[in-house]
Amino acid sequence: MKLLFSSGTFFFITGKARKYSNTAYALQDGGCQGKCAFCSQSTLSSAPKNFLSRVKWYSANLEDFSDIISSNFMRFCLQTVYKPNFDEEALEIMKTVKTRGKSITTVPVDELKRFLNVGVDYLGVGLDTTESMFPKVGKPFSFSTYMDFIREGVKIFGKGKVFVHLVFGLGESLDEFLNLMQEIYNIGAEVALFAFTPVKGTPMENNSPPSLHQYRLVQTVRYYLSRGIPLSKLMRNGELTLPSDSTHYLTSGCPTCDRPFYNESPTAPIPYNFSVVMKD
Ligand code: SF4
Repeated sequence: MKLLFSSGTFFFITGKARKYSNTAYALQDGGCQGKCAFCSQSTLSSAPKNFLSRVKWYSANLEDFSDIISSNFMRFCLQTVYKPNFDEEALEIMKTVKTRGKSITTVPVDELKRFLNVGVDYLGVGLDTTESMFPKVGKPFSFSTYMDFIREGVKIFGKGKVFVHLVFGLGESLDEFLNLMQEIYNIGAEVALFAFTPVKGTPMENNSPPSLHQYRLVQTVRYYLSRGIPLSKLMRNGELTLPSDSTHYLTSGCPTCDRPFYNESPTAPIPYNFSVVMKD
């Protein structure tokens, strides 16, 4: 099966670089039939289909590398795309890889149990944005469909085992974004945070990324929400009531997920998300 691997994963499995993440990242091949305005995989994007956010992905046959992946990585993360039979292909991929932890992004809701049965233990959901931004961003399903999917995912995988991907800076208000994070934690899911990254060739290529100051606030709120402190206690008059420190700025996601340099160049003076490799 042909798959795309993130540059970090690809260079390690082909023996060209040291391993700098404990998660192996893969992306289904062929581009996505969705029309999300910020995404390089979308049909609206003229960016090459081997890019996702600012990361370049490389094509390889999974069968050639499944052993090396299974024995060297703690987690395998498969990013799905909407295309015919993507779910069946994703299931075969997840059967082939034998890492202890396996994460999958969105698949049809009535198939979640099949993925659980082949060892998938975490679900990533690309909700991406707030309800008011759904039409502008062009998400493929309604906001309520995603929220129902998240609820069902929590029922099947368990509390804290569903990571909802949210992109800060697509044009939503700060309040809307913070309230959505609270809603997600109320359901028993978690938030994996991304900073909007304009990608050349997408309809949003000329939009600006969020301010680092606001992103730090969002990261800090996410950190405290994930530890059970409600938003009502975290914010007063638009200001944080609790201290913010660098441990709150680590990449958020499934265990060992660090998505190195996903939102910023390795030469960026201050990254949005600190991956473990950067922390070391
Ligand atoms: S949080 Fe990380 S490991 Fe989990 S699904 Fe998202 S990208 Fe994959």
